[in-house]
Amino acid sequence: MAKQNGYHESVATETATTDLTPAPGEVDHVALALANSTYLLPKHGRVDLLATPDATRAWLAAVGLAPAAADVRELCASRMRQLRTHVRALLEARVDNRPAPPESLEAVNAALTSVPSASLLQYDEERRWHRAAAHPVTQLVDRALAVIAADLADLLTGPDGELVARCGAPSCERVLLRTHARRTWCSVRCGDRVRAARSYARRSHESDSAPATA
Ligand SMILES: [Zn+2]
Repeated sequence: MAKQNGYHESVATETATTDLTPAPGEVDHVALALANSTYLLPKHGRVDLLATPDATRAWLAAVGLAPAAADVRELCASRMRQLRTHVRALLEARVDNRPAPPESLEAVNAALTSVPSASLLQYDEERRWHRAAAHPVTQLVDRALAVIAADLADLLTGPDGELVARCGAPSCERVLLRTHARRTWCSVRCGDRVRAARSYARRSHESDSAPATA
Protein backbone atom coordinates (compact mmCIF):
# COMPACT_ATOMS: atom_id res chain seq x y z
CA MET A 1 0.00 0.00 0.00
CA ALA A 2 2.80 2.39 0.93
CA LYS A 3 4.41 1.61 -2.41
CA GLN A 4 1.23 2.50 -4.29
CA ASN A 5 0.82 5.82 -2.49
CA GLY A 6 4.48 6.68 -2.89
CA TYR A 7 4.20 6.04 -6.59
CA HIS A 8 1.24 8.39 -7.01
CA GLU A 9 2.86 11.14 -4.98
CA SER A 10 6.24 11.04 -6.62
CA VAL A 11 4.87 10.87 -10.15
CA ALA A 12 2.65 13.84 -9.33
CA THR A 13 5.51 15.92 -7.93
CA GLU A 14 8.06 14.93 -10.55
CA THR A 15 5.92 15.92 -13.50
CA ALA A 16 3.57 18.59 -12.23
CA THR A 17 1.89 19.41 -15.54
CA THR A 18 2.45 16.18 -17.41
CA ASP A 19 1.53 13.59 -14.79
CA LEU A 20 -0.64 10.62 -15.59
CA THR A 21 -2.10 8.31 -12.98
CA PRO A 22 -0.68 4.78 -13.16
CA ALA A 23 -2.46 2.70 -15.81
CA PRO A 24 -4.53 -0.26 -14.54
CA GLY A 25 -2.11 -3.09 -13.72
CA GLU A 26 0.97 -0.89 -13.20
CA VAL A 27 0.86 -1.03 -9.43
CA ASP A 28 0.92 -4.85 -9.53
CA HIS A 29 3.30 -5.21 -12.48
CA VAL A 30 6.44 -3.11 -12.48
CA ALA A 31 7.09 -4.27 -16.07
CA LEU A 32 3.96 -2.36 -17.16
CA ALA A 33 5.13 0.64 -15.15
CA LEU A 34 8.47 0.51 -16.98
CA ALA A 35 6.78 0.19 -20.38
CA ASN A 36 4.64 3.24 -19.53
CA SER A 37 7.53 5.32 -18.20
CA THR A 38 7.58 7.22 -21.48
CA TYR A 39 4.42 8.51 -23.11
CA LEU A 40 3.01 11.08 -25.47
CA LEU A 41 0.74 13.81 -24.18
CA PRO A 42 -1.28 16.01 -26.53
CA LYS A 43 0.10 19.57 -26.33
CA HIS A 44 3.11 18.45 -24.26
CA GLY A 45 4.85 15.99 -26.54
CA ARG A 46 6.94 13.15 -25.17
CA VAL A 47 7.41 12.71 -21.45
CA ASP A 48 10.22 10.39 -20.35
CA LEU A 49 10.40 9.54 -16.65
CA LEU A 50 13.86 7.97 -17.26
CA ALA A 51 15.33 10.86 -19.24
CA THR A 52 18.11 11.63 -16.73
CA PRO A 53 19.92 9.80 -13.91
CA ASP A 54 18.01 11.91 -11.34
CA ALA A 55 14.66 11.13 -12.93
CA THR A 56 15.60 7.44 -13.11
CA ARG A 57 16.53 7.41 -9.43
CA ALA A 58 13.15 8.97 -8.57
CA TRP A 59 11.33 6.41 -10.72
CA LEU A 60 13.22 3.46 -9.18
CA ALA A 61 12.49 4.78 -5.69
CA ALA A 62 8.82 5.33 -6.53
CA VAL A 63 8.33 1.72 -7.65
CA GLY A 64 10.26 0.44 -4.63
CA LEU A 65 13.31 -0.85 -6.51
CA ALA A 66 15.94 1.47 -5.02
CA PRO A 67 16.45 3.65 -1.98
CA ALA A 68 15.71 7.34 -2.58
CA ALA A 69 19.40 8.19 -2.13
CA ALA A 70 20.66 5.57 -4.61
CA ASP A 71 23.60 6.48 -6.80
CA VAL A 72 22.21 6.29 -10.34
CA ARG A 73 24.51 7.18 -13.22
CA GLU A 74 23.74 7.86 -16.89
CA LEU A 75 24.88 4.33 -17.78
CA CYS A 76 22.26 2.94 -15.39
CA ALA A 77 19.55 5.21 -16.82
CA SER A 78 20.46 4.19 -20.35
CA ARG A 79 20.32 0.48 -19.44
CA MET A 80 16.85 1.05 -17.97
CA ARG A 81 15.72 2.75 -21.19
CA GLN A 82 17.14 -0.12 -23.26
CA LEU A 83 15.29 -2.74 -21.23
CA ARG A 84 12.16 -0.62 -21.57
CA THR A 85 12.38 -0.81 -25.37
CA HIS A 86 12.47 -4.62 -25.19
CA VAL A 87 9.76 -4.87 -22.53
CA ARG A 88 7.51 -2.72 -24.73
CA ALA A 89 8.31 -4.80 -27.81
CA LEU A 90 7.32 -8.02 -26.01
CA LEU A 91 4.14 -6.52 -24.53
CA GLU A 92 3.13 -5.20 -27.94
CA ALA A 93 3.82 -8.57 -29.56
CA ARG A 94 1.50 -10.11 -26.95
CA VAL A 95 -1.22 -7.49 -27.56
CA ASP A 96 -1.02 -7.93 -31.35
CA ASN A 97 -0.71 -11.73 -31.19
CA ARG A 98 2.64 -11.67 -32.97
CA PRO A 99 5.68 -13.88 -32.26
CA ALA A 100 8.14 -12.49 -29.70
CA PRO A 101 11.04 -10.56 -31.28
CA PRO A 102 14.13 -12.76 -30.58
CA GLU A 103 16.41 -9.82 -29.67
CA SER A 104 13.90 -8.67 -27.05
CA LEU A 105 13.61 -12.16 -25.56
CA GLU A 106 17.39 -12.26 -25.39
CA ALA A 107 17.64 -8.87 -23.66
CA VAL A 108 14.97 -9.74 -21.08
CA ASN A 109 16.54 -13.13 -20.39
CA ALA A 110 19.97 -11.53 -19.99
CA ALA A 111 18.48 -9.16 -17.38
CA LEU A 112 16.68 -12.07 -15.71
CA THR A 113 19.79 -14.19 -15.25
CA SER A 114 22.46 -11.56 -14.60
CA VAL A 115 21.97 -11.43 -10.82
CA PRO A 116 20.69 -13.92 -8.28
CA SER A 117 17.25 -12.67 -7.29
CA ALA A 118 17.05 -14.76 -4.11
CA SER A 119 17.46 -12.91 -0.82
CA LEU A 120 20.50 -14.37 0.93
CA LEU A 121 20.76 -15.39 4.56
CA GLN A 122 22.81 -12.72 6.32
CA TYR A 123 24.09 -12.05 9.81
CA ASP A 124 25.49 -8.92 11.41
CA GLU A 125 25.74 -7.48 14.92
CA GLU A 126 23.04 -4.89 14.41
CA ARG A 127 20.31 -6.80 12.58
CA ARG A 128 21.44 -10.33 13.53
CA TRP A 129 19.68 -13.00 11.44
CA HIS A 130 18.03 -11.60 8.37
CA ARG A 131 17.61 -12.09 4.66
CA ALA A 132 18.72 -9.47 2.18
CA ALA A 133 19.87 -9.30 -1.42
CA ALA A 134 23.64 -9.31 -1.81
CA HIS A 135 24.03 -6.20 -3.89
CA PRO A 136 26.48 -3.38 -3.52
CA VAL A 137 25.18 -0.05 -4.78
CA THR A 138 26.76 -0.59 -8.19
CA GLN A 139 24.63 -3.71 -8.71
CA LEU A 140 21.44 -1.97 -7.77
CA VAL A 141 20.35 -1.38 -11.34
CA ASP A 142 21.24 -4.97 -12.31
CA ARG A 143 18.90 -6.12 -9.59
CA ALA A 144 16.15 -3.70 -10.65
CA LEU A 145 16.45 -4.93 -14.25
CA ALA A 146 16.24 -8.55 -13.04
CA VAL A 147 13.14 -7.87 -10.94
CA ILE A 148 11.42 -6.11 -13.87
CA ALA A 149 12.37 -8.91 -16.29
CA ALA A 150 11.04 -11.55 -13.87
CA ASP A 151 7.80 -9.60 -13.50
CA LEU A 152 7.42 -9.40 -17.28
CA ALA A 153 8.03 -13.15 -17.63
CA ASP A 154 5.37 -13.86 -14.97
CA LEU A 155 2.94 -11.42 -16.55
CA LEU A 156 3.26 -12.78 -20.10
CA THR A 157 2.99 -16.43 -19.07
CA GLY A 158 0.36 -16.06 -16.32
CA PRO A 159 -3.41 -15.50 -16.46
CA ASP A 160 -2.98 -11.70 -16.67
CA GLY A 161 -1.14 -12.11 -20.00
CA GLU A 162 -4.50 -12.30 -21.77
CA LEU A 163 -5.48 -8.95 -20.29
CA VAL A 164 -2.59 -6.86 -21.62
CA ALA A 165 -4.00 -4.20 -23.93
CA ARG A 166 -3.09 -0.91 -25.51
CA CYS A 167 -4.92 2.25 -24.41
CA GLY A 168 -7.76 2.94 -26.84
CA ALA A 169 -7.18 6.70 -27.00
CA PRO A 170 -5.67 7.94 -30.28
CA SER A 171 -1.94 8.72 -29.97
CA CYS A 172 -1.71 7.19 -26.48
CA GLU A 173 0.94 4.46 -26.32
CA ARG A 174 0.41 3.27 -22.78
CA VAL A 175 -0.35 -0.35 -22.01
CA LEU A 176 -2.73 -1.57 -19.35
CA LEU A 177 -4.43 -4.65 -17.96
CA ARG A 178 -8.07 -4.90 -19.00
CA THR A 179 -9.20 -6.13 -15.63
CA HIS A 180 -12.79 -5.67 -16.71
CA ALA A 181 -14.21 -5.77 -20.20
CA ARG A 182 -15.21 -2.12 -20.35
CA ARG A 183 -11.79 -0.86 -19.34
CA THR A 184 -10.45 0.73 -22.51
CA TRP A 185 -8.43 3.77 -21.42
CA CYS A 186 -5.19 3.95 -19.46
CA SER A 187 -6.32 6.96 -17.45
CA VAL A 188 -9.23 9.27 -16.73
CA ARG A 189 -7.35 11.83 -18.79
CA CYS A 190 -7.46 9.61 -21.92
CA GLY A 191 -11.12 8.67 -21.33
CA ASP A 192 -12.11 12.33 -20.97
CA ARG A 193 -10.13 13.25 -24.08
CA VAL A 194 -11.87 10.60 -26.21
CA ARG A 195 -15.33 11.50 -24.86
CA ALA A 196 -14.69 15.19 -25.52
CA ALA A 197 -13.57 14.44 -29.10
CA ARG A 198 -16.66 12.29 -29.70
CA SER A 199 -19.05 14.91 -28.40
CA TYR A 200 -17.29 17.59 -30.46
CA ALA A 201 -17.63 15.39 -33.58
CA ARG A 202 -21.30 14.76 -32.78
CA ARG A 203 -22.03 18.48 -32.28
CA SER A 204 -20.31 19.52 -35.49
CA HIS A 205 -22.11 16.72 -37.36
CA GLU A 206 -25.45 17.91 -35.96
CA SER A 207 -24.82 21.53 -36.88
CA ASP A 208 -23.74 20.43 -40.42
CA SER A 209 -26.94 18.47 -40.94
CA ALA A 210 -29.29 20.93 -39.20
CA PRO A 211 -31.93 22.32 -41.61
CA ALA A 212 -31.35 25.93 -42.64
CA THR A 213 -33.58 28.26 -40.62
CA ALA A 214 -33.62 31.11 -43.08
ZN1 LIG B 1 -4.11 6.43 -22.63
